[in-house]
Amino acid sequence: MRANDNRIPGETIMIRTALAAALMSAAAPAALAQDDGGWSIIIHGGAGVIERGQMDADTEAAYREALSGALEAGREILAGGGSAMDAVEQVAWILEDDPLFNAGRGSVYTSEGTVENDASIMRASDMQAGAVGGVMNVRHPISLARAVMEHSPHVMLIADGASAFADEQGLERVDQAFYFTERRWQAMVRAVEAMGLPVPERPEGAPEPEPVREGMLDILDREKRFGTIGVVALDQSGELVAGTTTGGTTAKRWGRVGDTPIIGAGTYAANDCGVSATGTGEYFIRLSVAARICLLSETGLDGQAAADRVMDELTDIEGDGGIVALIGGQPVWSMNTSGMYRASQTHDGEPYVAIFDDE
Ligand code: ASP
Repeated sequence: MRANDNRIPGETIMIRTALAAALMSAAAPAALAQDDGGWSIIIHGGAGVIERGQMDADTEAAYREALSGALEAGREILAGGGSAMDAVEQVAWILEDDPLFNAGRGSVYTSEGTVENDASIMRASDMQAGAVGGVMNVRHPISLARAVMEHSPHVMLIADGASAFADEQGLERVDQAFYFTERRWQAMVRAVEAMGLPVPERPEGAPEPEPVREGMLDILDREKRFGTIGVVALDQSGELVAGTTTGGTTAKRWGRVGDTPIIGAGTYAANDCGVSATGTGEYFIRLSVAARICLLSETGLDGQAAADRVMDELTDIEGDGGIVALIGGQPVWSMNTSGMYRASQTHDGEPYVAIFDDE
């Protein structure tokens, strides 16, 4: 958590009242606040118990390099006058293809040994949004979410229907073996054994078991609920877009869907506020974390204070994780975990890449 907000008893009720008022006044999208030609971007790659000294140097370097590369790709698009929508999609593609992160190729496994992706995207200017849940065979779920927004009359599609729509849209399909990574598989095996459930068969087409570096496994055990990726970008025209994509939680059951594809919980963008979240999705859904931060910031609270306040409320209900946001064009992050993979840059600033909460 970044700021200490010194909340006083009773203040939570006042916040809820203010939120209700903001909800009513925020019904119609307002004009964009950002139109000065500046751009900004902020990215996360998941939050969790990530502590110095518990992460080996190679692993830390790999994460920092991946975050820098993704940031650089976003910067190129935005500095070159590209759209926030393209920046979010392209950066998400890079992270979805990187097995370090729990999205696309590096997704975690369900307790049945399948990968089921969730993703969403939202544009601030007109509050258009698209989302997908439980998708098992699309290479880039973020693009499917974008296609739902741009080419369907709906906001959220799930499972086989979403895959059929992906075919109609000509999006790249993959089979389950595409997602196979030994580290994610072994993390799921540990989890189902701990839950007393049967260990599923290795997926068809998966390679023979191979050793996973011990440092990696330790990290997986600690961050097993996190690793989702998210991007919020503001382009030179003032458009603001937020997107989030994930494999969900390790060993999830019964078609579980988390906060990531829920507009207002894992992703939100309206007016000059865009948020992407990562953490225990069930809690983010209950608190409508992403929308709550934006609505609070509309009551006049500083963006950082709004984010910190909502993360405090998340702590109160025993949820954990973090958020990244652009509020009034400024990068904001907040977490109640010891680390969050993150990176940001504004048009007039230097790149920022960080993992631990004190960076
Ligand atoms: N929020 C995601 C979910 O609950 C998990 C994550 O952030 O890694 O599905």
